[in-house]
Amino acid sequence: MPLLEFTSKGIYCAQADVYLDPWRGVDRAVISHGHSDHARWGSKHYITQEINVPVIQHRLGNISVTGKKYGEPFTVNGVQFSFYPAGHVPGSAQIRVEYKGEVWVFTGDYKTQSDGISNPFEPVKCNTFITECTFGLPVFQWEEPIKIHDRINHWWAQNQNEKTTSLLMGYSLGKIQRLLKHLDPSIGRIFTHGATEQMTQVLRQFIDFPETKLITRETPKKEIEGNLVLAPPAVLGSPWVKKLGRLSTGYASGWMAFRGARRRRAVDRAFVLSDHADWNGLLSAIKATGCENVITTHGYTDLFAKYLQENGWNARTQKTQYETETLETATTE
Ligand SMILES: [Zn+2]
Repeated sequence: MPLLEFTSKGIYCAQADVYLDPWRGVDRAVISHGHSDHARWGSKHYITQEINVPVIQHRLGNISVTGKKYGEPFTVNGVQFSFYPAGHVPGSAQIRVEYKGEVWVFTGDYKTQSDGISNPFEPVKCNTFITECTFGLPVFQWEEPIKIHDRINHWWAQNQNEKTTSLLMGYSLGKIQRLLKHLDPSIGRIFTHGATEQMTQVLRQFIDFPETKLITRETPKKEIEGNLVLAPPAVLGSPWVKKLGRLSTGYASGWMAFRGARRRRAVDRAFVLSDHADWNGLLSAIKATGCENVITTHGYTDLFAKYLQENGWNARTQKTQYETETLETATTE
């Protein structure tokens, strides 16, 4: 029997009776990170990286959860588990599973570029690597993030000069904090939507961010006008944006690399900034593990697995319920 198997509830270690990122309620769930397709409600006990503890408590409410440091091993029924940085969002981890000398690593989501807020991705030696491949096509090659952040600050400064409000949108967990961390507060003030503000507050205990101000019903329009507002993409087209004054809209996502994605979202500015590894990032991560076997779980799984097979790996695809960072799911985050 393989050390990890794919069942109707999720990735299962039968020897330990533990599930990794299960999509149904189980007794014991080991969780890679706080995004809603990986940390789901309904399990009796959760074990996750310690920074991710307040994140999933914020999302899932009153749950039973244990936090572990990166690299701190814990054993369940003779199977050793440990978390290693995945570089995806704060508190995100690859899950290393070892039994009788055999090592499997499940990545959850990851990126190899540094984002300034998450512990940087750390390669882990293993026999079998279960990897996402959201952007597993050679066409995906990310620019240096600093260039994107410079572009965002430049856009904001220009809007500020024209008394136009900059509405900058992204995922509430990870992307928004990454954007906030690199905004230049000398340009103006930074306002937030409720969902954005709450998750940022959860992470302020671990990370230094520029000051933000929550927009409430009482916030006067003229106070916001010309400044920058951070919000989830779901606000686009909602009555909430009316109180922001004259707007320029910007959306930060890996999917902005696609022609047409920007037009479909009807935004003024598209910033290609992803929390997933690009083509070279995926390949360098896989090489660094020294693994023989690769299982691709979500993204361009078939094409990516085929490329790996042609290049000497024993690779296959496995269907899961993890989502790629699509424009549709982005609106609900
Ligand atoms: Zn994720």
